[in-house]
Amino acid sequence: MVKIAKILFPVAVPEPFDYAIPASMKLAAGDFVYAPLGKQAKLGVVWGFGEREDIGKLKEISESKPCRSLNAEILKFINFTAKYNCALQGLVLRMVLRSHKALEPSPDVTLFTPTGEQPAGLSATRKRVLGLSDIWPARAGEIAKAAKVSSSVLNTMAKAGFLEKFTAPLDPPFDMPDPAHDGRAFDLTPRQISAGEELQALVRQQMFNVALLDGVTGSGKTEVYLEAAAEALRAGGQVLILVPEIALTQAGLKRFEERFGVEPAQWHSAMGDAARRRVWREVHGGRARLVVGARSALFLPYADLQLIVVDEEHDGSYKQDEGVIYNARDMAVVRGKLAGAAVVLASATPSLESLTNARSGRYHHVILPERPGAAIMPEVALVDLKDHKPAPGKFLSQPLIDGIGQALTQGDQAMLYLNRRGYAPLIICRACGERLKSPDTDSWLVQHKRTGRAICHHTGFSMPMPSACPECKAEDALTPVGPGVERVAEESALLFPDARIEVLSSDTAGNPERIRERMGAMAAGEIDILVGTQMVVKGHNFPHLTFVGVVDGDLSLGGGDLRAGERTYQTLVQVAGRAGRAEKPGRALIQTHMPDHEALVALAAGDREGFIAAELGMREILGLPPYGKLAAIIISAPDAKKADEFAKKTLNAAPRADGIEILGPSEAPMAILRGRHRRRLLIKSEPNVNLSAYMAIWKSRLRPPHKTKLAIDIDPQGFM
Ligand code: ADP
Repeated sequence: MVKIAKILFPVAVPEPFDYAIPASMKLAAGDFVYAPLGKQAKLGVVWGFGEREDIGKLKEISESKPCRSLNAEILKFINFTAKYNCALQGLVLRMVLRSHKALEPSPDVTLFTPTGEQPAGLSATRKRVLGLSDIWPARAGEIAKAAKVSSSVLNTMAKAGFLEKFTAPLDPPFDMPDPAHDGRAFDLTPRQISAGEELQALVRQQMFNVALLDGVTGSGKTEVYLEAAAEALRAGGQVLILVPEIALTQAGLKRFEERFGVEPAQWHSAMGDAARRRVWREVHGGRARLVVGARSALFLPYADLQLIVVDEEHDGSYKQDEGVIYNARDMAVVRGKLAGAAVVLASATPSLESLTNARSGRYHHVILPERPGAAIMPEVALVDLKDHKPAPGKFLSQPLIDGIGQALTQGDQAMLYLNRRGYAPLIICRACGERLKSPDTDSWLVQHKRTGRAICHHTGFSMPMPSACPECKAEDALTPVGPGVERVAEESALLFPDARIEVLSSDTAGNPERIRERMGAMAAGEIDILVGTQMVVKGHNFPHLTFVGVVDGDLSLGGGDLRAGERTYQTLVQVAGRAGRAEKPGRALIQTHMPDHEALVALAAGDREGFIAAELGMREILGLPPYGKLAAIIISAPDAKKADEFAKKTLNAAPRADGIEILGPSEAPMAILRGRHRRRLLIKSEPNVNLSAYMAIWKSRLRPPHKTKLAIDIDPQGFM
C-alpha cells in the first residue's frame, strides 16, 4: 500500500483530491502545499491521508510550503460548516484563506526616527524634518512628503547622527491588550459586576459553554462581556467579538480601547489587502489577542480561541445569504465547541431559538434587567394612524411632530426611523397608472431625489429619473408615492426650519468610514434630527437623544415571512432603545395602521414575556423553529419554463423520509431577480431529523441543467 495525501483547494470543489507524495516530503494534516490542478500548481491544504494499492497516474504534490499550518480545529470547523450548510468544502476553505500573502512573513521596511540629537545651526530642510511630530517612526517616503524634502536628506541625516535608521516588519504586530487596564470613566454597577463574574467563571472553565447575555437596551452588556474578555486574555487566550458590520464604529472601538488600553484588531468587508494580511497573519500566529469583526471574522485561523462573543445575536446580518449560505451566530457556537471555548450571545431582544436554549438550560442565562444609574427605559406608545392622520401628502402625525418639537425645545435630539431608503418607494404615472419597474427584476424602482435617479434596491440598477412616463410619454406626470427617508427629512425641514437635519442610510452615507463619522457627529450632538434606516438602530449610544419616532411600524409585518413579528418586535425595541440612554429619560412613538398587532401591543406594554409566549405558541402549532427545523431550496433559471421544470424535477427527487414536510415549489417572493426566474421549496422537519444530511442526499440526486442554479439555505431567515 502506498500512502497518498488528500488536498483541498480553495475553489468550488466538494471535497479534497488525492495526490501522490514525493518520497522526500514530510506532511501533516493542515500543511500548505502546491499541487497541480488543471494547468497550474495551486495552493491547497493537506486535509488527510489515504492508501492506495497502486498510485498509477496519480499526480504528485509539487512542493510543500514552509509556513505555519492550519490547526485541526479549523479543519474540523471547515468540514462542519460545509456539511451543515450543504456547501462546497472548497468554498468554505476559501472563506478561511482570505489572504495568501499572510502565509509569508511580513516584509521588512526601513524606518527612521529622531535620535534626539538637535544641535543649533541646522539647515532649514533638516529642521523641517526634525520638527515633524506624530509621525515617528516612519518610512523615508512618508517623511519626505510630510517635510517636503527629498528622501536622500534622510540618509545623510542618519549618517550625521540626527536620525536612527532601522528595519522593522511592514505589518507590525498588534499591541497587547492589557486586562488590568481600565480606563472607563465609571464604575460597574453591582448587577453588572455579578453578571461579569458569571461569564468569567465560564471562561475560567476553559471548556465549551454558551451563555445568553440577555439585558435590556443600554444595560451595559458590552461592559459586561468585556469582563469576560479580560478573563480570557489573562489566561493567554484569544478573544473574538462579532458585531453587526455597521456597528464597527469608531465610538464602539473606543470602548475596547478604554477597557484594554489598545485598539483591537479589526476585521470587516471594507478593509484593504494590507490590513487583511496583517490581521490574518497575527491571528494565525496567536499574537493578535483581541479581534473585533463582522461575521467573516469567525473564519480566521485562531491559534488559541478562548472566548467568542456574538453581540446583537438576533441580528439578521449574521446570516450570509450568498455563496456559502450560513448563519454566523450558529456557526459561532459550533466553533466554540470545537475550540473548547466559551461563547457569549448578547442581545436585548434574543432570538427565540437562543431564548429557548437558555430556558431549557442548554445555555446559561445571564440577565441584566435595568439600565445603570439614572438612565431609565424609554416610554413607548403607539400612534394609531386612523386617529392621527398626517396632512395630505405628508407622513408625520401630530403626536410625532409634537414629540420632535419637545425634544428640540429642550435642546435634545430626535431620531426618525423608517426602513426605506431614498425619497419614495414607488413612482407612478398619474396619466396612465404605470409603475416604474426594474427592467429585469420583479421590483419597483425607488425614487432618489438627492441623486436624481430611479434605483432598484435589489440589483442596484439605476437610471436618471425620467421627466416623461416611459409608457405613455406624458410629461411631468410621474409622481412619488409613499415615504422614504429623504422625503421624511424634507417634511421635517419644513416643520423645523432651524434644525440641523441629516439623512443616514447606506446609500447616502457613502462608505463605512463616513457612516462612522456621521454616527460620531450624532453622538456629539452636532445633528438635531437624524432620519435613518436600519443602520441607525444597531449598537449606538447617542446620549442627547430623547425622542424616537417610528414613521411606519408596520413595514415588516406584511408578507408571509414567519419571522416578521419577531423581527419587527426586535427592531422596534432596538430603535426605541436608542432613546434616553444617559441621564435624560427617553420616549418613543410608533405610527401604525395595526395597533392591535400582537408585536406592537406587546411593545407598547413593555410585555416581552407576553410577546414571546404568543410567538412561541404560534410556532409550536406550526412546527416552526425552535419546535422544528427549516430549510429552503432556491432554484433560478434564465426563463420561467426552465425554472418550473427543474423545480418539479427537484420535488420529484426528494428522498422519502419520516418527519419531513415539503411545501412548494412556488414562485419566490422576488420571482425575477437580475433576469433570473426564481422558485422556492420550503422543507420543514421535526426537531430530531438531521435535516442537513437529508438535504445533502437530495442535492446529490440533482443535476441542474446548464444555466440553472440550485442553492440550499439551512434555517432560512427571510423569504426573498
Ligand atoms: P448595551 O450593550 O446593553 O446596550 P452598553 O454596554 O452599550 O449597553 O452601555 C450603554 C451605555 O451606558 C454606554 O454608553 C455605557 O458606557 C454606559 N454604561 C454602562 N454601564 C455603566 C455604568 N455602570 N455607569 C455608567 N454608565 C454606564
